[in-house]
Amino acid sequence: MSGPVITVDLKKIEDNTRVIVDFCGEHGIDVIGVSKVTCGMPSVAKAMISGGVKGIGESRIENINRLRMSGINHPVTLLRIPPLSGVDEIVNSVDISLNSEFSVIKELSRAADKKGKIHGVILMLDLGDLREGIWPDDLIHIATETVKLPGIKLVGLGTNLTCYGGVLPSEKNMQMLVDYAHKIEDTLNIKLDILSGGNSSSLELVSQGKMPKEINQLRIGEAIMLGRETAYGRTWPGTSFDSFTLKAELIEIKTKPSLPIGETGMDAFGGKPVFEDKGEMIRGILNIGREDIDVDGLSPTDNSLSIIGASSDHLLLNITDAVKKPQLGDKVGFTLNYGALLAGMTSAYVLKKPILPKSSLIKNRIAMIGSSPVFNTPEIKSRLTSLGVEVTGPLAPISINLEKAFRDRTVPFIAGPQRETLLGMTAMKNTLGQSGLIILDSHASLMVSESAKPDRKILSTALGLVDDNINMSSEFSPENIVIIGLQEAEKEESDLIRRLNLTVFTMEDIDLLGIREVTRRALRTACSGTHGFYLSFCQDVGSNTSEGLTARELHLAMELISKSEQMRAIDVSGCLKEGQIDYTPLIHFVESAFGKRILG
Ligand SMILES: *Cc1c(COP(=O)(O)O)cnc(C)c1O
Repeated sequence: MSGPVITVDLKKIEDNTRVIVDFCGEHGIDVIGVSKVTCGMPSVAKAMISGGVKGIGESRIENINRLRMSGINHPVTLLRIPPLSGVDEIVNSVDISLNSEFSVIKELSRAADKKGKIHGVILMLDLGDLREGIWPDDLIHIATETVKLPGIKLVGLGTNLTCYGGVLPSEKNMQMLVDYAHKIEDTLNIKLDILSGGNSSSLELVSQGKMPKEINQLRIGEAIMLGRETAYGRTWPGTSFDSFTLKAELIEIKTKPSLPIGETGMDAFGGKPVFEDKGEMIRGILNIGREDIDVDGLSPTDNSLSIIGASSDHLLLNITDAVKKPQLGDKVGFTLNYGALLAGMTSAYVLKKPILPKSSLIKNRIAMIGSSPVFNTPEIKSRLTSLGVEVTGPLAPISINLEKAFRDRTVPFIAGPQRETLLGMTAMKNTLGQSGLIILDSHASLMVSESAKPDRKILSTALGLVDDNINMSSEFSPENIVIIGLQEAEKEESDLIRRLNLTVFTMEDIDLLGIREVTRRALRTACSGTHGFYLSFCQDVGSNTSEGLTARELHLAMELISKSEQMRAIDVSGCLKEGQIDYTPLIHFVESAFGKRILG
């Protein structure tokens, strides 16, 4: 991928969250972490949850579905007022919504009641910012009608400021919110659980000690993501502003004048450009433009560089005064403001790359798990040892052995007659947390029907679709799962692949892109925001039929996998076939995965 990339430092987001959560906690305020600027990126929501937020706030149902698919079962609050046409979907996946229209609340009631659910409603009060909210005169009436509805619980009162009108939260308007809440409570003889006092622009008031003590919730996005409160745009003490960084590549560097030559008309966006003559300058062009990002919200991380301007696909950089002269092909880094971040995260042209702190590398150690007649031989041990790999085992395929291996940063090599993939994945998620999964198989193992064989249900089981007691989707997010070499899928499987948005490379894709590119993409998907990946290998992917991957392709894939140094487990269990005599190819693939090169 040669396009622009936004790197998302999940550790910084978690740390920022903790700072804000602790600060608010001291003032009796719960924090809802708002993920909307990342389009509901599950790894970001998980970082906020690790940082201690009480729930997630999202503005769009698509983003909420994305979070739910990745096993996020925390309470989700829908921030944008629900549309009438969306109530059924909303009561399905959202716990609480912010509301200002009684006819919508009535429809939510109908939808929730039909499903036997109780949907939480926070009434939004407009205190003058003139975006969403009930006008104070109508509040008591709407509250009175709301509490009569089945399927609805009036859980709180909230407001939103500093979004449209730029109105700042103040002691006065916050006290109004509290007074109105009391009025509802007294009139209707109920207790409101939540008093939601706004967004990142309310933090300053809290720190001045002026927030009324009854306010017990804030919905925080920007302060967590970019480390800024938004009333005055100040950086928040103890937080990082650079959890997100953008990089783009220099595609031209030339010395040119600073004044255009010839009569000037309009620029590409219909504006009339004005120029100042600064004489000759060294100008760089980056492969990013207004189609990808809000250029005005970018700041070069190297402040000896400055942005001259941009068109759809090009960003012009003044590098005349660069302290360290960048070269063609170099990547230039930027931090982003909220608008630029929003545009970048929404753009299909910008790759998003969540990262976790690198756990120190796996020392070349493997633990044989399971008694495989093929691999448990002195010959194989000595072959692996000759690759510089330290081999222990064989150990019984039970969870304590597997978990110990993961904790010791030893790679479990799971090989035995029974398929132990679910056991291995469980151990990996329990010890490492966020994990990727690469499946090299001709099948998807995504069957859900009862009659299907257990081997064809491994992935569907792992994702919580088969057995109520098993669900690893919160650690093995569908966004980090890749199937390579798919040759056939039942209808229920292809439906699931689409619904879960799994990354699948069929043989056709491999023919089209080549195995090198496919493996590169697979690694990117599986490693994005994870502590490495679990490799599940089934011989059928190569098979003896002409449809499968060739031995050369498989070797190349395995070599790239080995080079990534992110393979935390390899599993070939249950893949020996009855009557099979020659295991040499299988042994060779495993050797490649552990670093064997054709030329030593
Ligand atoms: C976006 C949004 C927030 C979060 O705002 P930040 O300034 O990013 O903290 C809170 N409440 C509502 C209703 C929102 O739409």
